[in-house]
Amino acid sequence: MAEIRIDKYLSVALNISRTDAKQLLKKSNITVDGARVIKSDFKLDEGAEVKKDGITLVYKKYIYIMMNKPAGILSASSDQRVKTVVDILPEHLKRDGLFPVGRLDKDTTGLLIITDDGDFGHRVMSPKSHTEKCYQAELDGELKEEYIDIFRQGVTLASGEKCLSAKLEILGERLAEVTVCEGKYHQIKRMFGTVGLGVNRLHRKRVGGLMLPENLPSGEARELTADEIALI
Ligand code: URA
Repeated sequence: MAEIRIDKYLSVALNISRTDAKQLLKKSNITVDGARVIKSDFKLDEGAEVKKDGITLVYKKYIYIMMNKPAGILSASSDQRVKTVVDILPEHLKRDGLFPVGRLDKDTTGLLIITDDGDFGHRVMSPKSHTEKCYQAELDGELKEEYIDIFRQGVTLASGEKCLSAKLEILGERLAEVTVCEGKYHQIKRMFGTVGLGVNRLHRKRVGGLMLPENLPSGEARELTADEIALI
Protein backbone atom coordinates (compact mmCIF):
# COMPACT_ATOMS: atom_id res chain seq x y z
CA MET A 1 0.00 0.00 0.00
CA ALA A 2 1.06 3.57 -0.69
CA GLU A 3 2.56 5.76 2.00
CA ILE A 4 1.07 9.07 2.93
CA ARG A 5 1.91 11.91 5.32
CA ILE A 6 -0.19 12.01 8.49
CA ASP A 7 -1.23 15.66 7.94
CA LYS A 8 -2.53 14.78 4.44
CA TYR A 9 -4.29 11.69 5.84
CA LEU A 10 -6.01 13.74 8.54
CA SER A 11 -7.02 16.51 6.17
CA VAL A 12 -8.70 13.95 3.87
CA ALA A 13 -10.22 11.77 6.59
CA LEU A 14 -11.57 14.72 8.59
CA ASN A 15 -12.10 17.14 5.69
CA ILE A 16 -9.95 19.83 7.30
CA SER A 17 -7.08 21.96 5.99
CA ARG A 18 -3.48 20.79 6.24
CA THR A 19 -2.83 23.66 8.69
CA ASP A 20 -5.68 22.48 10.93
CA ALA A 21 -4.37 18.91 10.66
CA LYS A 22 -0.97 20.07 11.95
CA GLN A 23 -2.65 21.80 14.90
CA LEU A 24 -4.70 18.69 15.61
CA LEU A 25 -1.57 16.56 15.86
CA LYS A 26 -0.38 18.82 18.68
CA LYS A 27 -3.71 19.22 20.47
CA SER A 28 -5.43 15.82 20.08
CA ASN A 29 -4.34 12.29 20.70
CA ILE A 30 -3.67 10.99 17.18
CA THR A 31 -2.40 7.43 17.08
CA VAL A 32 -1.16 5.30 14.19
CA ASP A 33 -1.36 1.57 14.92
CA GLY A 34 -1.50 2.42 18.61
CA ALA A 35 1.45 4.85 18.80
CA ARG A 36 0.94 8.60 19.34
CA VAL A 37 2.07 10.76 16.39
CA ILE A 38 2.86 14.47 16.70
CA LYS A 39 5.09 15.27 13.74
CA SER A 40 3.15 16.31 10.62
CA ASP A 41 5.67 14.75 8.22
CA PHE A 42 5.25 11.29 9.78
CA LYS A 43 4.59 8.79 6.98
CA LEU A 44 2.15 5.93 7.34
CA ASP A 45 0.69 3.19 5.25
CA GLU A 46 -2.76 4.05 3.83
CA GLY A 47 -4.09 0.87 5.45
CA ALA A 48 -2.80 1.74 8.95
CA GLU A 49 -5.25 2.15 11.81
CA VAL A 50 -5.47 5.82 12.70
CA LYS A 51 -7.42 7.01 15.73
CA LYS A 52 -8.33 10.46 16.98
CA ASP A 53 -8.96 10.46 20.71
CA GLY A 54 -9.65 6.73 20.52
CA ILE A 55 -12.04 6.90 17.53
CA THR A 56 -10.95 5.14 14.34
CA LEU A 57 -10.85 7.37 11.26
CA VAL A 58 -11.93 6.37 7.76
CA TYR A 59 -9.62 7.36 4.93
CA LYS A 60 -10.88 7.35 1.38
CA LYS A 61 -8.12 7.85 -1.14
CA TYR A 62 -10.50 9.23 -3.76
CA ILE A 63 -13.99 10.60 -3.77
CA TYR A 64 -16.59 10.16 -6.54
CA ILE A 65 -19.52 12.55 -6.59
CA MET A 66 -22.58 12.99 -8.78
CA MET A 67 -24.18 16.39 -9.20
CA ASN A 68 -27.40 17.48 -10.82
CA LYS A 69 -25.74 20.50 -12.39
CA PRO A 70 -27.87 23.63 -12.51
CA ALA A 71 -27.74 26.15 -15.36
CA GLY A 72 -25.45 29.15 -14.89
CA ILE A 73 -22.62 27.26 -13.15
CA LEU A 74 -19.26 26.62 -14.79
CA SER A 75 -17.94 23.04 -15.18
CA ALA A 76 -14.49 23.76 -13.77
CA SER A 77 -12.54 23.38 -10.53
CA SER A 78 -12.16 27.10 -9.96
CA ASP A 79 -12.70 30.42 -11.67
CA GLN A 80 -11.98 33.97 -10.58
CA ARG A 81 -15.27 35.44 -11.76
CA VAL A 82 -17.92 32.74 -12.07
CA LYS A 83 -19.20 30.11 -9.62
CA THR A 84 -18.05 26.61 -10.46
CA VAL A 85 -19.49 23.16 -9.81
CA VAL A 86 -16.80 22.62 -7.15
CA ASP A 87 -17.74 25.93 -5.43
CA ILE A 88 -21.35 24.81 -5.00
CA LEU A 89 -20.54 21.39 -3.50
CA PRO A 90 -21.60 20.95 0.13
CA GLU A 91 -18.65 21.42 2.50
CA HIS A 92 -18.51 17.75 3.55
CA LEU A 93 -17.79 16.71 -0.07
CA LYS A 94 -15.13 19.35 -0.76
CA ARG A 95 -11.45 18.46 -0.83
CA ASP A 96 -8.33 19.41 -2.78
CA GLY A 97 -7.92 18.26 -6.36
CA LEU A 98 -11.59 17.90 -7.34
CA PHE A 99 -12.46 18.32 -11.01
CA PRO A 100 -15.49 17.64 -13.22
CA VAL A 101 -15.19 14.56 -15.44
CA GLY A 102 -15.83 16.16 -18.82
CA ARG A 103 -17.49 19.50 -19.20
CA LEU A 104 -21.09 20.51 -19.49
CA ASP A 105 -21.68 23.97 -20.95
CA LYS A 106 -22.64 26.69 -18.49
CA ASP A 107 -26.28 26.53 -19.62
CA THR A 108 -26.42 22.70 -19.73
CA THR A 109 -28.03 20.90 -16.78
CA GLY A 110 -27.97 17.37 -15.46
CA LEU A 111 -25.60 14.58 -14.53
CA LEU A 112 -22.02 15.60 -13.84
CA ILE A 113 -19.40 13.45 -12.15
CA ILE A 114 -16.82 15.15 -9.96
CA THR A 115 -13.79 13.36 -8.54
CA ASP A 116 -10.17 13.77 -7.47
CA ASP A 117 -9.16 10.48 -9.16
CA GLY A 118 -7.26 11.60 -12.25
CA ASP A 119 -6.92 8.12 -13.78
CA PHE A 120 -10.66 7.50 -13.46
CA GLY A 121 -11.44 10.88 -15.02
CA HIS A 122 -9.12 10.29 -17.97
CA ARG A 123 -10.50 6.81 -18.55
CA VAL A 124 -14.12 8.01 -18.63
CA MET A 125 -13.31 10.99 -20.85
CA SER A 126 -11.13 9.08 -23.30
CA PRO A 127 -12.92 8.47 -26.61
CA LYS A 128 -11.34 4.98 -26.48
CA SER A 129 -13.54 4.11 -23.50
CA HIS A 130 -16.67 4.66 -25.63
CA THR A 131 -18.58 5.74 -22.52
CA GLU A 132 -22.11 6.66 -23.62
CA LYS A 133 -23.57 10.02 -22.64
CA CYS A 134 -27.28 10.56 -23.10
CA TYR A 135 -28.80 14.04 -23.39
CA GLN A 136 -32.30 15.39 -23.70
CA ALA A 137 -32.45 18.38 -26.02
CA GLU A 138 -35.17 20.95 -26.65
CA LEU A 139 -34.78 22.36 -30.14
CA ASP A 140 -35.83 25.65 -31.67
CA GLY A 141 -37.32 23.97 -34.73
CA GLU A 142 -38.99 20.82 -35.92
CA LEU A 143 -37.24 17.47 -35.86
CA LYS A 144 -37.37 15.29 -38.97
CA GLU A 145 -37.18 11.48 -39.14
CA GLU A 146 -34.32 11.73 -41.63
CA TYR A 147 -32.05 13.19 -38.91
CA ILE A 148 -32.00 9.78 -37.20
CA ASP A 149 -29.99 8.33 -40.10
CA ILE A 150 -27.79 11.41 -40.41
CA PHE A 151 -26.82 11.08 -36.73
CA ARG A 152 -26.39 7.31 -37.02
CA GLN A 153 -23.97 7.70 -39.92
CA GLY A 154 -21.82 10.17 -37.98
CA VAL A 155 -22.31 13.90 -38.43
CA THR A 156 -19.58 15.99 -39.99
CA LEU A 157 -19.45 19.24 -38.01
CA ALA A 158 -19.08 22.65 -39.64
CA SER A 159 -15.39 22.56 -38.60
CA GLY A 160 -14.89 19.41 -40.70
CA GLU A 161 -14.57 17.19 -37.60
CA LYS A 162 -16.31 13.86 -38.02
CA CYS A 163 -18.41 12.55 -35.15
CA LEU A 164 -18.86 8.91 -34.32
CA SER A 165 -22.25 7.31 -34.85
CA ALA A 166 -24.88 8.75 -32.49
CA LYS A 167 -28.39 7.61 -31.58
CA LEU A 168 -31.17 10.14 -32.06
CA GLU A 169 -34.60 9.45 -30.64
CA ILE A 170 -37.41 11.84 -31.47
CA LEU A 171 -39.62 12.33 -28.40
CA GLY A 172 -41.71 15.23 -29.65
CA GLU A 173 -41.86 17.86 -32.38
CA ARG A 174 -38.97 19.74 -30.80
CA LEU A 175 -37.79 17.29 -28.15
CA ALA A 176 -35.11 14.64 -28.66
CA GLU A 177 -32.81 12.31 -26.85
CA VAL A 178 -29.28 11.92 -28.21
CA THR A 179 -26.70 9.35 -27.16
CA VAL A 180 -23.04 9.90 -28.05
CA CYS A 181 -19.91 8.06 -26.98
CA GLU A 182 -17.41 10.91 -27.27
CA GLY A 183 -17.21 14.43 -25.89
CA LYS A 184 -16.26 17.05 -28.46
CA TYR A 185 -16.58 20.70 -27.51
CA HIS A 186 -20.27 21.77 -27.66
CA GLN A 187 -20.84 18.50 -29.50
CA ILE A 188 -24.63 18.16 -29.23
CA LYS A 189 -25.28 21.80 -30.10
CA ARG A 190 -22.92 21.59 -33.08
CA MET A 191 -24.48 18.31 -34.24
CA PHE A 192 -27.95 19.85 -34.30
CA GLY A 193 -26.43 22.92 -35.93
CA THR A 194 -25.56 20.83 -38.99
CA VAL A 195 -29.29 20.20 -39.59
CA GLY A 196 -30.16 23.83 -38.97
CA LEU A 197 -31.49 23.46 -35.43
CA GLY A 198 -30.56 25.43 -32.33
CA VAL A 199 -30.65 23.87 -28.86
CA ASN A 200 -32.79 25.81 -26.38
CA ARG A 201 -32.23 23.43 -23.45
CA LEU A 202 -29.78 20.61 -22.93
CA HIS A 203 -29.94 18.17 -20.02
CA ARG A 204 -27.65 15.16 -19.46
CA LYS A 205 -29.52 12.13 -18.18
CA ARG A 206 -26.95 9.35 -18.25
CA VAL A 207 -23.20 8.65 -18.30
CA GLY A 208 -22.32 5.02 -19.08
CA GLY A 209 -24.88 2.97 -17.17
CA LEU A 210 -25.37 5.63 -14.51
CA MET A 211 -28.67 7.52 -14.72
CA LEU A 212 -29.26 10.83 -12.98
CA PRO A 213 -31.60 9.85 -10.13
CA GLU A 214 -34.95 11.62 -10.10
CA ASN A 215 -34.60 12.32 -6.38
CA LEU A 216 -31.43 14.43 -6.77
CA PRO A 217 -32.67 18.02 -7.06
CA SER A 218 -30.99 20.57 -9.31
CA GLY A 219 -27.86 21.98 -7.67
CA GLU A 220 -27.45 19.09 -5.26
CA ALA A 221 -24.68 16.51 -5.10
CA ARG A 222 -23.95 13.30 -3.27
CA GLU A 223 -21.23 10.68 -3.11
CA LEU A 224 -21.56 7.76 -5.52
CA THR A 225 -21.85 4.24 -4.15
CA ALA A 226 -19.36 1.56 -5.28
CA ASP A 227 -22.12 0.01 -7.42
CA GLU A 228 -22.82 3.34 -9.10
CA ILE A 229 -19.12 3.91 -9.83
CA ALA A 230 -18.99 0.49 -11.47
CA LEU A 231 -21.89 1.50 -13.76
CA ILE A 232 -19.86 4.32 -15.29
N1 URA B 1 -22.80 18.95 -25.92
C1 URA B 1 -23.04 20.28 -25.85
O1 URA B 1 -23.24 20.93 -26.85
N2 URA B 1 -23.02 20.88 -24.65
C2 URA B 1 -22.83 20.20 -23.50
O2 URA B 1 -22.85 20.80 -22.42
C3 URA B 1 -22.60 18.82 -23.58
C4 URA B 1 -22.60 18.23 -24.81
